[in-house]
Amino acid sequence: MPERKPHERPNWHAMTSDEALGNLESSLKGLSSSEAEARLTQYGPNELQQQKGRPWWQRLLEQFNNILILILIFAAAASLWLGEAFDAGAILGVVIIIALIGFFQEGKAEQALESIRQMLTPQAQVMRDGKRETVPAENLVPGDIVLIESGDRVPADLRLVEARRFRSEEASLTGESTPVDKDTAPVEAAADLADRSSMAYASTIVVQGNARGLVVETGINTQIGRISEMLRGVEQLKTPLLRQIDRAGRVLAIFILVTAALTGVIGALVHGQPLGDMFMAAVGLAVAAIPEGLPAIVTIGLALGVQAMARRNAIIRRLPAVETLGSISTIFSDKTGTLTRNEMTAQAIWLPQGELRIKGIGFAPEGSFHRIGNSEPAATALNLDENHALRHFLKVGVLCNDAELAEEDGRWQIHGDPTEGALVVAAAKVGLTTGKLRGDHDRKDAIPFESERKYMATLHEVDGEPLLLVKGAPDRLLEMCHRVREDGQDSELDVALWEERIHDLSARGLRVLALAEKPIHDVHELEDEHAEEGLVLLGLVGLLDPPRDEAIEAVKDCQTAGIRPVMITGDHAVTALAIARQLGFVHTERAISGREIEAMSDAELEAIILEVDVFARAAPEHKLRLVKAMQARGGICAMTGDGVNDGPALKRADVGVAMGIQGTEAAKEAAEMVLADDNFATIVGAIREGRKVYDNIRKTITFLLPTNGGQGLAIMLAVLAGTTLPVTPLQALWVNMVVAVTLGLALAFEDAEPDIMQRRPRDPDAALLDLFLLWRVVFVSLLLLAGVFGMFSWILYGQGGSIELARAGAVNMLVTGSAAYLINSRFLLNSTLSIPGIFGSRPVWIAIGLVMVLQLAWTYLPFMQLTFGSAALGLGHWTVILTGSMAIYLVVELEKRILRTRAHGRRSRAPHGHYPRLR
Ligand code: ATP
Repeated sequence: MPERKPHERPNWHAMTSDEALGNLESSLKGLSSSEAEARLTQYGPNELQQQKGRPWWQRLLEQFNNILILILIFAAAASLWLGEAFDAGAILGVVIIIALIGFFQEGKAEQALESIRQMLTPQAQVMRDGKRETVPAENLVPGDIVLIESGDRVPADLRLVEARRFRSEEASLTGESTPVDKDTAPVEAAADLADRSSMAYASTIVVQGNARGLVVETGINTQIGRISEMLRGVEQLKTPLLRQIDRAGRVLAIFILVTAALTGVIGALVHGQPLGDMFMAAVGLAVAAIPEGLPAIVTIGLALGVQAMARRNAIIRRLPAVETLGSISTIFSDKTGTLTRNEMTAQAIWLPQGELRIKGIGFAPEGSFHRIGNSEPAATALNLDENHALRHFLKVGVLCNDAELAEEDGRWQIHGDPTEGALVVAAAKVGLTTGKLRGDHDRKDAIPFESERKYMATLHEVDGEPLLLVKGAPDRLLEMCHRVREDGQDSELDVALWEERIHDLSARGLRVLALAEKPIHDVHELEDEHAEEGLVLLGLVGLLDPPRDEAIEAVKDCQTAGIRPVMITGDHAVTALAIARQLGFVHTERAISGREIEAMSDAELEAIILEVDVFARAAPEHKLRLVKAMQARGGICAMTGDGVNDGPALKRADVGVAMGIQGTEAAKEAAEMVLADDNFATIVGAIREGRKVYDNIRKTITFLLPTNGGQGLAIMLAVLAGTTLPVTPLQALWVNMVVAVTLGLALAFEDAEPDIMQRRPRDPDAALLDLFLLWRVVFVSLLLLAGVFGMFSWILYGQGGSIELARAGAVNMLVTGSAAYLINSRFLLNSTLSIPGIFGSRPVWIAIGLVMVLQLAWTYLPFMQLTFGSAALGLGHWTVILTGSMAIYLVVELEKRILRTRAHGRRSRAPHGHYPRLR
């Protein structure tokens, strides 16, 4: 193992690649696993010190930076000044408890998000023990040989030892966003970072080509590791929704403060009450009416949503996506691997002599070839030795190909692109082994497959002759071919005939590839123009890639949920339409091709975008235009992507969705959400979860505000009427606290309502606190107010009880009434009057159980009585409280029923109206 002092940093860029390899005692075959392990201990993991979140003390302090807490601290100080030391102490105690609750809840939410972020650790392709392996990028050590290609994020600082058309974008390091060409030639020792073309630096992105690089520096020793401010910061917890709530909260707080002050002034002036008392009453009113628990509860709701999505394979990278998902109205989805299984099997081959069928499904190399002839409906098995054209076709398919087939634990697996894997499997079915073929025909150069180019070309020496092999999209190859190989002879290409054959395979839903070749001399480095003309066509192969069963279900769900799935595929239009039909897409008569999109103006595209479900032969740049057109028509779009060029479309989409398995690092970084299983159904699952989170937040708000409203109104009315306060400021604080930590949290855990995917997407512009919600808050506030006043007056005046007893009755009425209303709030509009409606939610009943225990303690424990001025209630009181609460529950159910009937006729007409709109 090479010895190196920590600060010693050789000029890797100025060395030849052999010198660099020698310096790190490595070779082009990479390290052995044992050596890599030893070096990992020596050099440490290849990771940058994660930027720490806010330290705990800072988070705790920030809890006090809150208008309510400041009011309370002020109130405590004022009480002390008025000589009420006991009250002051109690208020301060409660302040500390509220701050601690906020602190722990926020901490939990941050932790949840952090653990999800860690699910996205990047992987690296590395040579270990002479074989290609995928390892977590943090396990890379100096001396490793890594393979990188277009779309990858460079995992460590690399000295390039092999590079093909390699370009990388180094904006994260140098700020320069134009991609730079890289090769293996050493550069001057004094070259600037930006000019060190023999190096690929950690965190930069490969935008073209591929390369092998020797890892020279890892972790904090990389260039990026030394620029600490470049580190990605911890994502803020604030989402638009939370900011909206914060803003609404501030307006509400100011309103409440002014009302409280006015109320106090009126009490003092009109009723001649002592100023000190009125001050405390105003504070009490403010404390009672401000819903201080709300922001923390909403944060928890979002964090729970993120966790639930992660459990279902949707990893949220940016928190606001949780909210946006609920309003998605269009999902643009790639076909291959997302809607389909990406388990390609070659099923049919068209050679100039006729069509062949291949038996056997999957990657196992088992199955035989059969010729289809007009006179032979019962196909006959083929002997490869007699069929040179087929043998040559399969050979070309394996050589112009990077995939490998391997049996692992009794299962056949493909390493590499499944489209290419299918060709390897087909060849293996007749005994052609990849390793031998590739060993015998050394590859001199290659142009890798890219969606824009739609073909791949390789240069080999076959029987001493240099030969260019090409495989790609058949319509593209027909343009590049002028002849066809038939019985060993090249003859004129009948384009119409071959187009018919392509159509025939595509109409069966098969992905079609064409293979072609041409002799080529005096070329060592392939350029596009070498491959793009004068080719000789060898034949076509049709690959079966069945739709995923879950995707068929998910497409159905989309249709009831008012969401349009739209397929974007690089495949042929006819193939795409056939698959779209199998998936159950609605508008399947017409597919628009990438070229047609190019020919359209933005206005033309906007005009047709709502009628077309399938876009075929599309390239990444078309995706961006599709998103823009759909957004111009008012759509809220999710867009999937995997390649480096999908970045702009993913960023532009309302929710960019990257593939976790097939996707490049570049796509993942542009996306808001990453699919761990690359599955379309996962997107629909996440939308359902997003709708649920939003629903639950609305429910929580609708539930919490009336508790504040009820007690705020009670204090206000008492002051205005010049009577005794039914609830003291300290008691109001207590109620807010216990309701927020018990009842308030329960709704965040609610399951989705059964009809959640039968509603239309939420209008993103619709206000969170719409008229319906405000009405409900006012209505229930009044009900609770009636309960509180009723209870208080009954005990005080009706029974001649003490003021403490009357207040204990009022507070318990308020909390118990809220608990009953919590059951109403499980469904904003649907009835809960059923066994599952009332008893169906465990969190709700745990919360109710907890709040009752707390209330009993508050009512009967002597130190609670002393602190909060409560008193022991009798059985009769509890009977009235429980009856009153039940009455509140029933009245709200009655109100829902009336609203449901009113909304019934409107629902079908209102585009976004799953709740009644009150006019
Ligand atoms: P989708 O957009 O449905 O996910 P895709 O992105 O995989 O599909 P492309 O990869 O752009 O689509 O493929 C377009 C066409 O290029 C295919 O129909 C096929 O004919 C051809 N093709 C696909 N993969 C390869 C490959 N590895 N080598 C050569 N040609 C290929």
